[in-house]
Amino acid sequence: MAELILPENQNYSCHGCGGCCWLYEVVVTEEERQRIIGQGWSQSDGIPAGRKLVRRTGGIFSRRWALARRSDGACIFLNEKGLCRIHAKFGEPAKPLVCRLYPFVLYPVGDRIAVSLRFSCPSVAGSRGIPIREHRAEITEFCQLGAAAPTFGPPAISRGEKLDWPDTMSVVARLGSLLAGDGSTPLALRVTHALLVAEMLGQAKFDKVRGERLEELLGTLVEAVPEETARGLDPAPLAPAKVQLRMLVAQYAPRHPLMVVGLGYRARAAAARLRMVRGQGMTPQLHEGLPPVAFDDLEKPRQCSHPEIDALFARYFQGRLQGMSFCGPACYGLGVSEGFVRLMLTYPVLLYLTRWSAIGQGRSAASVSDAELAVTLVDHKHGYSPLLGSGSVARMARWLMQNRQIQALSAWYAR
Ligand code: SF4
Repeated sequence: MAELILPENQNYSCHGCGGCCWLYEVVVTEEERQRIIGQGWSQSDGIPAGRKLVRRTGGIFSRRWALARRSDGACIFLNEKGLCRIHAKFGEPAKPLVCRLYPFVLYPVGDRIAVSLRFSCPSVAGSRGIPIREHRAEITEFCQLGAAAPTFGPPAISRGEKLDWPDTMSVVARLGSLLAGDGSTPLALRVTHALLVAEMLGQAKFDKVRGERLEELLGTLVEAVPEETARGLDPAPLAPAKVQLRMLVAQYAPRHPLMVVGLGYRARAAAARLRMVRGQGMTPQLHEGLPPVAFDDLEKPRQCSHPEIDALFARYFQGRLQGMSFCGPACYGLGVSEGFVRLMLTYPVLLYLTRWSAIGQGRSAASVSDAELAVTLVDHKHGYSPLLGSGSVARMARWLMQNRQIQALSAWYAR
C-alpha cells in the first residue's frame, strides 16, 4: 500500500452541516447509478413521487451521471434534518464514493499519496474534530477503492523545466517552509519572501541541478530574499491592482447551489461584478455572510493580520502545497512556480473577504470567524471554477506579479 503524506496541524470530523450536499454536483459511476436506483426509493422515504434520482450531466448525449437535485438546489437525498437518506437507510458505505471522500483529496506523488482537505468545509477551515492521522484507516480504504486521481508525472517547475518527483517535492517543501516561517513574522511578509523565491524559481534553469545541488540552489535563493525585501515595497497598491482584486473577489465570493443559476441569477451576477469593478458606494451582496458595506470602509485599517488569522491562512496554504492541489492537473495544469503565484494571489482576496465580513458584522477588527468564512469561499472556487483558470486571469496574475502588486495588495489589506 502506498505511503500516505498526511497534513499536520489539521483536525477534521464531519459535523453534519450538510453544506457539501448543497454545493456540489455529485457525479456517480454507472455502478453507483444502478445501485442507487436498485435501492427502491419511494415516497415513504421522503422522495417525491415520479422524481428521477439520477440525471445526465454534461449534455443530453453525455454518459456521465449525477444525483438529481431538489428544486432548492440540494441533493435529492438530503433530508429535512440535513442528513443523508442513503447513509441513514443503508449505511455510510452505500453512499457514492465522492460523498464518502469529501473533504479529502488524494493525489498520487510518485509512489506515495498526498492527502489534502477541502477548506470549503467549515469543519476543515476551523480545524474542528480529530487529528487527520486518526482518519488513516478510512483514507487507506478510499485509496483501495481507487479514489486517488490517476497517476501523473510531476508538474513542470516553470515552462520547460521539469524535475523528478523527489526534487519537485523539495521545491514545494521549501516554498511551504517560507510560508510557515518561525511564527514571529507577519504572514504578509512571509508571502512577500516566498513570492520572490517563486519568481526566481520561475526563471531558473535546472539543467543538471538535482538532489543536493538543488537543495544548495534553493538555499541560495532563500538567502538572497531578505536583501530584496529590505529594499521595501510600496505599501499602497496601484489603483488598477485594486480594481483587479475586486474583480477576483467577485469571482470567488458567490457561493450558490447549482440549481439557482438561472437567467435572473446571471443578470444579477453581471450587475454585481460591474459594481465591484467601479468600487464606489456600497458593495453588492455576493453572499449571505457578506452584507452590503461601503467600499470606502474596506480600505480602512481592520487588523486582518493577527496571529490566529495568519495561522489559519498559513495552514490553508500549507495544505494546498503539501497536497499538490495548487498546481498540475489539480489546478488548471499550472506549473509549480505559476501555481504558487496563483495561490498567493488568493491571499489578498482572503484578506478583502475577511474585512468585508468583519465590517458587515459591525466589528472594528477582523475575527477568526471572518477569516474562516473567507477561506471556505476561496477554497470552493480555487482550482475548480473554469473562469479562474482562464487566460484572462492568468494575464492578470502575471501583470500583478511583474508589478509587485500581489505583495502590495497583501500588505495593504492585511493592515
Ligand atoms: S448522497 Fe447523501 S452525502 Fe451525498 S450529497 Fe446526497 S445527501 Fe449528501
